[in-house]
Amino acid sequence: MRQVLLVRFGEVHLKGQNRPYFLHKLTDNVKKAVAPLNARVWLSDGRIYVSDFEDIQQAIDRVTRVFGLYSVSPAWELDKDYELIAHKCEEMTRGLKGTFKVMARRSDKHFPMNSQQLNAELGGVILDANPDLRVDVHKPDYYVSVEIRDHAYVYIDEIMAVGGMPMGTGGKAMLLLSGGIDSPVAGFQLMRRGVNINAVHFFSFPYTSERAKEKVLDLAKILGSYGGGMKVYIVPFTEIQMQIHEKCPDAMGTLLMRRYMMRIADEIARRDGAQALITGESLGQVASQTMEALACTDAVVNMPVFRPLIGLDKLEITQIATKIGTYETSILPYEDCCTVFTPRHPMTKPKIEALVEAEQALDTEALVRDAVENTEGILV
Ligand code: ATP
Ligand code: MG
Repeated sequence: MRQVLLVRFGEVHLKGQNRPYFLHKLTDNVKKAVAPLNARVWLSDGRIYVSDFEDIQQAIDRVTRVFGLYSVSPAWELDKDYELIAHKCEEMTRGLKGTFKVMARRSDKHFPMNSQQLNAELGGVILDANPDLRVDVHKPDYYVSVEIRDHAYVYIDEIMAVGGMPMGTGGKAMLLLSGGIDSPVAGFQLMRRGVNINAVHFFSFPYTSERAKEKVLDLAKILGSYGGGMKVYIVPFTEIQMQIHEKCPDAMGTLLMRRYMMRIADEIARRDGAQALITGESLGQVASQTMEALACTDAVVNMPVFRPLIGLDKLEITQIATKIGTYETSILPYEDCCTVFTPRHPMTKPKIEALVEAEQALDTEALVRDAVENTEGILV
């Protein structure tokens, strides 16, 4: 007898012909997630099993963060012996109050009792042993699940996992990662769809501090902990910001800065083998996130730009940030380069021609090239 985790898949079920590929990836990702625990992982009967861990809570915490998984149940694996199963049901329901229902499933037809008989017998055993429990077949507080497969499995709890698609099945993208609340959430949303991401951060030393950079690396570390780790490209951005500030109309400052960010990110992404950019923009949130402004920033990039937060309110974004564990770090009070030279009256309906004209004052090619060449890649 031992404890195992029964792990259920999410949407991978739908993948038709590609199903074996997705399952293989997913099993691999679970193996990587529990590797530090030396746990065993195997795929059998349309489910992943994890065993041989020392600390079950650690194993659960790690497995529920694997993208592509639906839920996890800590279960007891027993020999297929009715007395053992009954005893375990009794033990597991000890101390529970309220209502329950036994859900037996017999896949091994050699087992002498069928599902109905198991439900009835085990229900009786639990009722006899625990006067605080009643049966409710419609809306019970607890489902006592009993599965007869290669072994017998008994479990009650089902813990929801993060969902989404297996990491590595959705391509590769480059996240523009600031120290704010939004961009880490944007990255998470695509990671959750199986996309492998690296990040680029624009750093305006000495206007933004080393602490601000550390904060961004910490955020990347949290995101990377959902699988795959992450590389963060730190781009020196001070020179470009200074030149925009000195040579271009004040009201265009933010938009011009964003166009340079996109150009540089596009080039770093291309060199990194990424197929798309990701930003944390949400429509109308600030002046540079109107539809006109987004068109002006899109105009300088060659690859698709994903903005998974485009239709979300700040409150919804904050809720996700809290859930995924980035919020506490995001609200640490360090300056981002966006706030360094903020125009007093930013444009909300920019004309692209006016921006292109303002950029004539700058040597765009040289500025972008210098920034890219001096970028430092840090693995977190
Ligand atoms: P966030 O909370 O992600 O900082 P925001 O609401 O502050 O977003 P902006 O400052 O306008 O919005 O930035 C919009 C997007 O541009 C960010 O979500 C992020 O993807 C990118 N971005 C902004 N500043 C930086 C930076 N210093 N480095 C990398 N990307 C950045
Ligand atoms: Mg910001």
